[in-house]
Amino acid sequence: MAETIYDVAVIGAGPAGTQAAVSASHQMKHVLVLHSGKVSFSRGRAYWSKSVEIEDAPVFPGITGPNFAKELMKWMESRPVVDFMLGAEKRKTGIEMRDGLVTKLTRNGRLLELEASSKTLKRHAPLEMERFKSRTVVVASGFDDKWPDIEFQPGAERLYKQYATVFRYAGNRKGWHVCIRCDGHLHVNEHLAILGVGDYIYDAALGAQDFTDKITILTNGRPHRMSPAVLKQVAERNINIIETKIKRHIGEKTDLLGFEMADGTELYFHGFLVDEGLIPNTKFLEGWDYQKDEEGLIIANEDMQMLDRHGEPIPGLFAAGDIVSGERNLIATAFALGQEAGLSASDSLRKWQYPIDSS
Ligand SMILES: Cc1cc2nc3c(=O)[nH]c(=O)nc-3n(C[C@H](O)[C@H](O)[C@H](O)COP(=O)(O)OP(=O)(O)OC[C@H]3O[C@@H](n4cnc5c(N)ncnc54)[C@H](O)[C@@H]3O)c2cc1C
Repeated sequence: MAETIYDVAVIGAGPAGTQAAVSASHQMKHVLVLHSGKVSFSRGRAYWSKSVEIEDAPVFPGITGPNFAKELMKWMESRPVVDFMLGAEKRKTGIEMRDGLVTKLTRNGRLLELEASSKTLKRHAPLEMERFKSRTVVVASGFDDKWPDIEFQPGAERLYKQYATVFRYAGNRKGWHVCIRCDGHLHVNEHLAILGVGDYIYDAALGAQDFTDKITILTNGRPHRMSPAVLKQVAERNINIIETKIKRHIGEKTDLLGFEMADGTELYFHGFLVDEGLIPNTKFLEGWDYQKDEEGLIIANEDMQMLDRHGEPIPGLFAAGDIVSGERNLIATAFALGQEAGLSASDSLRKWQYPIDSS
């Protein structure tokens, strides 16, 4: 059987990857989507909105993260792969979805090769790898949030076991939030704890003022590391900073209520937000010469093409969604960037490009 060479391979099936895949298949392209949701715990950020309904995503009026992820899958399933003729050429269009955590991306002549671990990871069992070839690739793998170092179990094998208690409360109405713009409305005029350090965390406090003026910053045992200018505003706005280490969560079922601190005191709040930074899902790009910002997010041009160190587009490589550098992107932006990337990847495959006028 002839080896399949896809027109567009999309890494990730969040809103950015889904939209890129749908837009490319709408341009009659044969699209492969590799998503790690079932073979790893990297399920995309929207998934973690476990009991909080996402209220500001287009077309989905109030939907939890797991249901949103299912709807995105259904949307892609509605475009199965079919054959069609273009002139005398037999072609394929549609979306093929495969479980796979992409671990490596390499160039082989005009093609891009993806290596993916395609079975659920099991202790002591070797990885099962599959290889795919495509003319273009859209990187829509997003990032993971860094979680607070509370009741952290360093010996546990997996991230989710290491942060087991944190995850119990994450993504719930009365649990850990990671995005003030997304979940601030749940705590209007309520007392909000914000965990993090440096001027960076003051950005979250600035965002919180749309919802409440009762804010406490917790540094979890670290010096606050805020500049004098920020500290002045913090004092003017009566924001309390507590530098004591947090010993454990106090909660009921999946509701987080407060913390027992290392000095034995207990602190209670209505809402909890953490911003300790992010981990970009780009390990498979190791060895590539591409531009990224100080957080590791990809710098792309207006056509969502990835750029090399000289600012030149890297042929065949596009990016979309949260993984793209910029002000924190949300779902609607992920759809928009996904559409741009899907269309640009499709356009790059055209046989004829606009003639260059040499007169
Ligand atoms: C708790 C929470 C609540 C939120 N609430 C809102 C809200 O109310 N409104 C809003 O607009 N935004 C909200 N957001 C933000 C929103 O979820 C993100 O902006 C959006 O999901 C980004 O879309 P994306 O497609 O770029 O990335 P993601 O949704 O993160 O998707 C990334 C995809 O890549 C896959 N992946 C990662 N690595 C690999 C790999 N190596 N190989 C294969 N696949 C891989 C993942 O499985 C996933 O399918 C929230 C985020 C969180 C965490």
